[in-house]
Amino acid sequence: MNSENPKKRIAIFGSTGSIGTQALDVIEANADKFSVEVLTAHHNDELLIKQALKFNPNLVVIVDENKYGKVKDALGSTDIKVFAGEKALEEVAAMDCYDFMLAAIVGYAGLKPTMKAIENGKAIGLANKETLVVAGDIMMRKAVENKVPVIPVDSEHSAIFQCLIGETRNRIEKVILTASGGPFIGRKPNYLVNVKREHALQHPNWNMGAKISVDSATLMNKGLEMIEAKWLFNLRPEQIQVVVHQQSIIHSMVQFEDGSIKAQMGLPDMKLPIQYALSFPKRIKNDFPRLDFRKISTLSFEEPDVKTFKNLVLAQEALNKGGNLPCVMNAANEIAVYAFLRNRINFLDMTDAIEKTMQNIAFIEKPTLEEYFESDGEARNFAADLIKL
Ligand code: NDP
Ligand code: MG
Repeated sequence: MNSENPKKRIAIFGSTGSIGTQALDVIEANADKFSVEVLTAHHNDELLIKQALKFNPNLVVIVDENKYGKVKDALGSTDIKVFAGEKALEEVAAMDCYDFMLAAIVGYAGLKPTMKAIENGKAIGLANKETLVVAGDIMMRKAVENKVPVIPVDSEHSAIFQCLIGETRNRIEKVILTASGGPFIGRKPNYLVNVKREHALQHPNWNMGAKISVDSATLMNKGLEMIEAKWLFNLRPEQIQVVVHQQSIIHSMVQFEDGSIKAQMGLPDMKLPIQYALSFPKRIKNDFPRLDFRKISTLSFEEPDVKTFKNLVLAQEALNKGGNLPCVMNAANEIAVYAFLRNRINFLDMTDAIEKTMQNIAFIEKPTLEEYFESDGEARNFAADLIKL
């Protein structure tokens, strides 16, 4: 380590996932700039152990307490500390041993540790969009109070963030979120009713975790991203537009008050926004494949088919109405996706369950954090009863 340019100490929450493993690839390629201090997994003890032996972090967390013994034994000959259980995520998030949290846990489970990190002044690289959907107002307020940067990892939001560099005094007219359309673009309900987990997990452009792959197939992912954009960039709902762009070359765009539009482009590769979030404000040279405009014949754009992919309408409603409605929608979606992934309900049932849950949970206009937790719980119970989980 060089004292003028110390390594940034990284905590990867959700290190065994799609984002987490790609982040470790980026860190491995830039071992002079970053050190890994914290790794966390839910159940995947084997990968966590492998990662720990390779990257030698200060500590690891295995959320599944039944696996504690196995992880502890495997790391017995090292001085890596081992913690277990859900509460340990929050405790570790509050520790001094790291500078930057890569929030890469999937779903609501990422909220409390991320909030703890913000309260403790840690910079955040945010992949976990659900945290902003659930409690974006409180999270961003806390980030401002604690002077904590929240740097998006989601490719669309990284694109918007990059387009806004140097534009602090200029007003945004709107942002244009691009959507690949997912694996079922062009399909109608009579087809969708029969699709199975295996189909939904085949995304044309990105290789991602199971939950976000299903969200991309139902377009809920884009709905979540609209709400994510609102909080990250302080936008009004009418400033957020979704356009289907199947090639995923333009990662998103910003239109300013003079009508000028900036886009950020590249081949679809999550390592780029992950690397950018880790190294911001600097860019780091890499050898990722480059986009060659001579090799792409078409960039296409179309309106999303909201008659078929009704989740986008539900998300628009949640975005417009605000309060606890996005939190309720997110909880119902997590339950619905869980059930679909276990072949308990069909593809279209997911939307029904989310819609009914949104209609039935009491609306709260300005929830406290505690009320968000309660709304999440109520919505999960309601959706699970509906689905008979
Ligand atoms: P994965 O399912 O691949 O990984 C999720 C990670 O979180 C794993 O490390 C998993 O551990 C851990 N985890 C899961 N549930 C819990 C829990 N209840 N408590 C603690 N840890 C848990 O997800 P992705 O990497 O695909 O996505 C992570 C986040 O990033 C999501 O919010 C997603 O929307 C967002 N994102 C992902 C993109 C992608 O390309 N994958 C693109 C843009 C955003 P274990 O492995 O042990 O189960
Ligand atoms: Mg995205």
